[in-house]
Amino acid sequence: MSKRAFNFCAGPAALPTAVLERAQAEMLDWQGKGLSVMEMSHRSDEYVAIAEKAEQDLRDLLAIPSDYKVLFLQGGASQQFAEIPLNLLPEDGVADYIDTGIWSKKAIEEAQRFGSVNVAASAKGYDYFAIPGQNEWQLSKNAAYLHYASNETIGGLQFDWVPDAGDTPLVVDMSSDILSRPIDVSQYGLIYAGAQKNIGPSGLVVAIVREDLLGRARSSCPTMLNYKVAADNGSMYNTPATYSWYLSGLVFEWLKEQGGVEAIAKVNRAKKDLLYKAIDASDFYTNPIAHNARSWMNVPFRLADDKLDKPFLAGAEARGLLNLKGHRSVGGMRASIYNAVGLDAVEALVAYMAEFEKEHA
Ligand SMILES: *Cc1c(COP(=O)(O)O)cnc(C)c1O
Repeated sequence: MSKRAFNFCAGPAALPTAVLERAQAEMLDWQGKGLSVMEMSHRSDEYVAIAEKAEQDLRDLLAIPSDYKVLFLQGGASQQFAEIPLNLLPEDGVADYIDTGIWSKKAIEEAQRFGSVNVAASAKGYDYFAIPGQNEWQLSKNAAYLHYASNETIGGLQFDWVPDAGDTPLVVDMSSDILSRPIDVSQYGLIYAGAQKNIGPSGLVVAIVREDLLGRARSSCPTMLNYKVAADNGSMYNTPATYSWYLSGLVFEWLKEQGGVEAIAKVNRAKKDLLYKAIDASDFYTNPIAHNARSWMNVPFRLADDKLDKPFLAGAEARGLLNLKGHRSVGGMRASIYNAVGLDAVEALVAYMAEFEKEHA
């Protein structure tokens, strides 16, 4: 078999090798049916079984209560930025949003196209290095919902607590940290996540929506963006992203084999502890994020001199450590260490960082 590099890409991100091997084995002839999953009708018994198993495994992994629908939608998390107000924000209503970085700001800007948005708190006052505590938030009295991003993939800023929204539905963009550690789904009205970080290939976004929030869409909401239409049709109002859905199902099976979300959270904790410890122990590498808001999944860091960025990246690539370049808006480095990135990858990265520091500090 060809050698697999360690891939620290922020997204589309690494997938478990075992999943890709399984997909490869099933590529031409899925379970003796003589055709690929890509070539199946989404209405066929075979495909419906694949789709239902994926949903059930996700339900098992997150202990999703029975009064929540799981939707497998298209358009990515970015389309949800519009879909959420179209479904949940009445034309004369107001929605509360928390600004913690680039993704939550995009959600805010999109929602503003559809109605009144109250930015109840912003991490701007902390240069996006810390999350304002809820005692600093200016929530509306009658918000249709409260939206936040649990993990800012670019800034590396993550909530280690769940906002208390009271009776207001809590809506969360969990694109880059879903399935990375246990959550209590019942605290949320709507959870959504683009698949290409911690779930599967791109082309798919998973939405977990409490049933009482269905049927609130504006009359002007396009049919394809209406959660109730998707729920009533088992996410098959039109042709879904069948292969992405199938592959996500293989990732869910893999995650169950790893022991589920609690087990993977232990690995994730060890991974991020190792990397932050290496950064903090050196004067050469820095990460500016407040310790209680440091992301488990996306670790941005800078070198003492950004002239060394290029040689650092070249040396990393030569060792099979790929995609460590930081987002173009931030610069520096970023290591994304999602579920499919093992502890061995982080060990290899930390060893390389020490070696590079010794040579260049
Ligand atoms: C990647 C990402 C998005 C955008 O996802 P797309 O599927 O590309 O639309 C939104 N929010 C967060 C937190 C992300 O990490």
